[in-house]
Amino acid sequence: MAAKKIVITIDGWSSCGKSTLAKRLAKELGYVYVDSGAMYRAITLYFIRADVDIHKKKEVVAALKDINLEFIFNEAAQRSEMYLNEENVEFVIRDLLIAEKVSDVAAIKEVREFAVAQQQKMGARKGIVMDGRDIGTVVFPHAELKIFMTADNAVRVERRFKELYAKNPNISIEEVKNNLEMRDYIDSHREISPLRKADDAVELDNTNLTEDGQFRKALEWALQAKKAKAH
Ligand code: C5P
Repeated sequence: MAAKKIVITIDGWSSCGKSTLAKRLAKELGYVYVDSGAMYRAITLYFIRADVDIHKKKEVVAALKDINLEFIFNEAAQRSEMYLNEENVEFVIRDLLIAEKVSDVAAIKEVREFAVAQQQKMGARKGIVMDGRDIGTVVFPHAELKIFMTADNAVRVERRFKELYAKNPNISIEEVKNNLEMRDYIDSHREISPLRKADDAVELDNTNLTEDGQFRKALEWALQAKKAKAH
């Protein structure tokens, strides 16, 4: 009999290294990796381009009808990439311009319903690792393994700064710091599906852990959860 597949959720603060860990875990287990944040970023990109007034529900609802989101695997880069209406937006959605607006967009009820319905479909057959903010609390409340990641603020700022600086040397560390603080605040204080640790999540503070160390810990939890499922 084929081993039972599980759902693994990884939530946490911005720039905690969620996607790095999620990708590696998915690869090791032969699971699908889904970056739910990319979906909110792609929706934000569409709203900016179409000049959608996010305070007008009608405009938001109408715009969502014109949005098609898809993850397509790029063999050369060995990663799945975000497509918005058949355009590869994987690179452009990482821009600070998007990061500045995404949390306000992600706080909108209709936007969340739109994204969550698609995320739940992707996980219906299990064998998935999804990272985000509400994956263990709202999207997959019955997931077999829920990880909540944290890290010191200074470490997170430094990590995200390095990432963004490589693409745009004009960026300052203050901009990155302000953006992370703003997003964390909005994400954890919004009315709908605020970021919080699920009661049954295990916490992974990676301030002083290497990527290998985090991976080993998470893999151990995943194998335990798979084993528990098999019984
Ligand atoms: O994960 P990432 O930093 O790319 O997410 C960008 C933003 O998308 C977050 O700051 C948050 O506002 C939103 N988000 C969310 N729920 C998720 C994933 C991301 O609200 N499950």
